[in-house]
Amino acid sequence: MEPSADMEALTQDIQYEFDELEHQCFSVENYHNIFHHFNFTIKMKVNDSADWTSMLFFAEVKEIFKRKIYFYSPLELYENGHCYACKKQGMDDLRHPIIGVYDRGNPGTIHVRR
Ligand SMILES: [Zn+2]
Repeated sequence: MEPSADMEALTQDIQYEFDELEHQCFSVENYHNIFHHFNFTIKMKVNDSADWTSMLFFAEVKEIFKRKIYFYSPLELYENGHCYACKKQGMDDLRHPIIGVYDRGNPGTIHVRR
């Protein structure tokens, strides 16, 4: 028996759909460190069920020395981690995970590195 057969059956029973992009924030820490934060929702349902449930996700797309790094994580209902970068730009509605390896920016308002 194929060891992966069960896993495949499981994942096929759930449908995912991109729902909507809620917030996004683009930050430039310096020339070599650019990052973009997103909140978006994904709809999912079990094939047998008629109900779609919506889940909120956080995503970061980061570019360091022209290399793109991706991070994403589902958000719990009241999860709202701190991010200097989004706060600085008045993006208070964009929610971040509390735990996770993503760029939270710097507390200083002016940040110049040479
Ligand atoms: Zn942020």
